[in-house]
Amino acid sequence: MENTVVEKKEERFKKPEWLRVKLPTGENYLKVRSLVDQHKLHTICESGNCPNMGECWGAGTATFMILGNICTRSCGFCAVATGRAMTVNAIRQISPGTTLETLIPDFKGEMENVQRIVDVMPEIVSHNMETVRRLTRQVRIQAKYDRSLDVLKYLKEGGCRTKSGIMVGLGESDAEVLETMDDLARVGVEIMTIGQYLQPTKKHLAVQEFVHPEKFARYKEEALKRGFRYVESGPLVRSSYHAEQHI
Ligand code: SF4
Repeated sequence: MENTVVEKKEERFKKPEWLRVKLPTGENYLKVRSLVDQHKLHTICESGNCPNMGECWGAGTATFMILGNICTRSCGFCAVATGRAMTVNAIRQISPGTTLETLIPDFKGEMENVQRIVDVMPEIVSHNMETVRRLTRQVRIQAKYDRSLDVLKYLKEGGCRTKSGIMVGLGESDAEVLETMDDLARVGVEIMTIGQYLQPTKKHLAVQEFVHPEKFARYKEEALKRGFRYVESGPLVRSSYHAEQHI
């Protein structure tokens, strides 16, 4: 009896067809692979087990973790802020033609640290809400929904082009997703990403729903209605997915 229940549960959460991806191959993919290996770089693509590596690396795009493979949120954030600001400037000096998108934490709401990002003005500054208001405490233990909105507002008022994203499939309702879109539009976010949450290991939060691609398409329409200039919404969308197109 117990086995039947377990089997049924697993069956219910078997990954649907639309989440299956091809194994990465191809010339560009191999070129990026060898660069990453050769220079011992850390990419979120690999650390996050991203399903889009075939597509993104195949298009010559990868996303790097500036301070190595350690989550910056556990570090003292003064050092983090300085590290990021210096990295942006260093890239600008070495390669002035490179466009930069930085994904930043909320710096615990300390705006002098957010100001350091404004000072170096990357082409896009991204800070993810990750989920709707109600689920924030459960999904982002160290973060606060309104504090993230404040950070995005501060960046926008400082002249930055801002971007934010959420994962769906964590038990949120449609109304809650729309509320988050309204909140992001209100603080001037221009680019929004919406993707399916996938459970990285059994220790992480369980997937509550595999959101159908049609619903992602409806979310995209709703977001565009709210004035976002660019919206990526789909099962495999991650915050850095198609980043080269957002610039
Ligand atoms: S979506 Fe982002 S993390 Fe995933 S492979 Fe593409 S660049 Fe890397």
